[in-house]
Formats: sequence, C-alpha cells, structure tokens
Amino acid sequence: MTTAEGTLTPSQPDDGGQGPDRAPDALVEELDGAEATLAAVEAALARLDEGAYGRCTRCGGPVEASVLEDDPAASHCQACAHDQAPRPGGDTPSPPA
Ligand SMILES: [Zn+2]
Repeated sequence: MTTAEGTLTPSQPDDGGQGPDRAPDALVEELDGAEATLAAVEAALARLDEGAYGRCTRCGGPVEASVLEDDPAASHCQACAHDQAPRPGGDTPSPPA
C-alpha cells in the first residue's frame, strides 16, 4: 500500500505545542474546587443535623440570609467571611464589580 501522491498529513498548527486539551493544572484546580464545595456541603449538612445550620462557625452569630442564598453551604457570616481570604476560584457567576 502506498500513500497517494499529494496527500498531506494534517499538520499541527504552530501554536507552540499547545493542544486543544486543557492543561492538567486547570483540571486539578477544578477538581480541588469541586472537592472543597463537597466538603462545605457535607459540613453544612452536619451542622443541619446538629441544629447549628445558619450559624457562623467562627463567631457563632447568624449567617445572613443573603449569604445563605448565595451559598447555602456558607459557614461564616458576612463579617467573618470578609475577614477570611476570599474563596479560591469562585463558583459564583457574578462578575467582579
Ligand atoms: Zn461570624
């Protein structure tokens, strides 16, 4: 079997070797985010079990309804959440103001 003359092998675009696949780092980051979310939800369910749901795990005060609406698994009130480092990645669709 011979290759037909003139048949060109589709060459890779010269984009510096970057394939169409996402970098593994991005996937790892995404996985980390998913695991963090899962952990937060499980912690929220545990607090629900203990009757402590909706209470800040840091200061013990109530977590604002708006915070729980934004993130039902939130474990900190606005003040404490603000005090802490912002969540990495961020699964909130709201764009930065
Ligand atoms: Zn608090």
